Amino acid sequence: MLELVAFLLPIAAASGWFAAAKHYQNRQKNDGADRLNRTCLRSIDFLLAEKTEKAIDAFVDILEEDRDTVETHIALGNLFRRKGEMERAISIHQGLMGKPALNAEHRARVLFELGMDYMRAGLFDRAEKAFTGLTEDRIHREPAMQQLLQIYQHEREWLKAVECTRAISKLGKIQRGESVAQFHCEMAEEALAAGQTERAMDHVQTALQQDDACVRASLQKARIERSQKNYGLALQTLKNIEKQNSAYVVEMIGPLRECYDYLGDAKEQVLYFQYLFDKYHLEAVMLILAELINRSDGTEQAIAFLSEALAEHPSIKGMSHLIALHMRRAKADCHSTFAELERLSVRLSNEKMCYQCTHCGFRGVELHWQCPGCHHWETIKPMASAL
Ligand SMILES: [Zn+2]
Repeated sequence: MLELVAFLLPIAAASGWFAAAKHYQNRQKNDGADRLNRTCLRSIDFLLAEKTEKAIDAFVDILEEDRDTVETHIALGNLFRRKGEMERAISIHQGLMGKPALNAEHRARVLFELGMDYMRAGLFDRAEKAFTGLTEDRIHREPAMQQLLQIYQHEREWLKAVECTRAISKLGKIQRGESVAQFHCEMAEEALAAGQTERAMDHVQTALQQDDACVRASLQKARIERSQKNYGLALQTLKNIEKQNSAYVVEMIGPLRECYDYLGDAKEQVLYFQYLFDKYHLEAVMLILAELINRSDGTEQAIAFLSEALAEHPSIKGMSHLIALHMRRAKADCHSTFAELERLSVRLSNEKMCYQCTHCGFRGVELHWQCPGCHHWETIKPMASAL
């Protein structure tokens, strides 16, 4: 269908030019219109001979200041872009830009489309240049900045992304949940990877100032505090995540446990995990509680806790854990049966997807703060962990 449209559009455009040329000829009766007519005929000849490149060149050559003609050229270029024929799209739009007769309004419009061509072709440096040239244009300022924001994220230029997000926020709407806080978290991540803890902490604090509900910043803050052996502070930072966004409570479980283990407050640990389990029925918390009870009160107590918890909140991982506990006290002749059961249940539990994007439905086993599917920020949430 696109092929047909691609073929018909230039013919329709040529017909338009014919009409325009005829009108022009009647009015002016000059040699220019004759030239236009001849070029149109030549273009159609090229099209019929399937020499699309030459036809496009001919169309670009006959550009007049007439508004419809410019619009048709833009549409033709856009059509090639949608078809993925980027060289042709760029060639048409570049051809238009090269015309001195183009008025300012059309020039801005064509520059935007050219920027979109470069984006689609993956030529981000050229796209950035095109869109930067439109940031003072009244009509194209906001869409150009939205595109620049995408480029900066793709190129991981987070400071520029911060400035751009702030500027767009003043003008209109942020499209994909981009936030200054998330970009500071990205910079914190880079600083941590480079071993620059202080710089990382600065970015984390800025992220929290920008968005006090930023769970990612709290997780990073607790990570830095743990690395500096400030386990008490880390514990408070982690507990705050529940107030920030309870959908991410499961993410604080591992670090929380590390803090409690270091601080050696086993009783407080059991109490807090019991509170979390009663409130959120999280599988990960149930397993930790079973392990803590096993450690403090023995296998029988752990089995009793897990059996009761599983009766109300069934889970494959919980069952696998229960089998493992039974196996510890099983007689030798039953051991291989329990081992087989445990192996099967572990396989089943490993097949579960853990995270899902609330915007596009993308599923994965890792937590991404920016969805790899739709590129929205903070739309991926833990799933299948609550029982
Ligand atoms: Zn998504």
